[in-house]
Amino acid sequence: MRLIENWFSERYSDNLQLSFRIKDQLLSIKTDYQRIDLFDTYDFGKLLSIDGTVQLTEKDEYVYHEMITMVPYYFNSKPSNVLIIGGGDGGAARRLLDLDIPGITNVEIDGNVVEVAKKYFPDISSSFKDGRVKLIVGDGIKYIRESRDKFDRIIIDSTDPVGPAEGLFSSSFYNDIKEHLTEDGIVVTQSGSPYYQPTALAMAHKGMSEVFPHVKTYCAFIPTYPSGLWSFTMASGEEMKLRDEKINNGKYFNSDILYGSFYLPEFVKNILK
Ligand code: SAM
Repeated sequence: MRLIENWFSERYSDNLQLSFRIKDQLLSIKTDYQRIDLFDTYDFGKLLSIDGTVQLTEKDEYVYHEMITMVPYYFNSKPSNVLIIGGGDGGAARRLLDLDIPGITNVEIDGNVVEVAKKYFPDISSSFKDGRVKLIVGDGIKYIRESRDKFDRIIIDSTDPVGPAEGLFSSSFYNDIKEHLTEDGIVVTQSGSPYYQPTALAMAHKGMSEVFPHVKTYCAFIPTYPSGLWSFTMASGEEMKLRDEKINNGKYFNSDILYGSFYLPEFVKNILK
């Protein structure tokens, strides 16, 4: 008898894809913004995909969420008021709560992502039950244009620069972001796989450099994202300096990573030129 195997594949290029053997597909919906799929995988637990690209898995989400929150946390003045754009799974907000941030606003365009996370990732999305987290279902670009609030950190935890997230990588958006940062505040964005998505990294870096005098790119190893090497780019109106403060360990993040993640391979430096 032949066993039937089911697989979910994310295509990186015409010639390469990463496949996860799955036990089951738990959900597939088309929302006003995107297609959301949820799989129960053998190796990575539950996996959330948007428009065919992996957003998070139960097993390795900690790397992305620690790196997008903890790295910018330790620079400049201690943040107390943080805005997340995207992040409908609740993972970034959860890490900020671990850092004792008292005020977190999370603007996610697609309420369906939040509902899926609440049902299938209760631990990760438990942040939405915390009184310190204010969830707004709406477009981050519109929110930034219309709101007058200022934040110490703005975390752009978005999908890749196609569809609803495209505008989140433009210099006009970063220009609006600047108006919402406190004096030495920092904006950080996920900027894609340097290997497979060099354009996303170049867009984020160029867009931020046109608006901010200080821009830094750092990388992390995320096994379920294209090529495993992922980039983040952060910027500020003031020089970004580490505070003299004890650095807590995460599961991936520690003081070595805080320093070391800014040492970039030559091919990544060339994308930033
Ligand atoms: N860790 C992820 C990654 O890099 O693959 C990002 C995860 S999070 C689920 C991304 C979220 O960004 C999605 O839920 C998507 O709906 C949201 N998003 C995309 N464009 C947005 C916009 N313009 N405003 C607010 N949220 C947006």
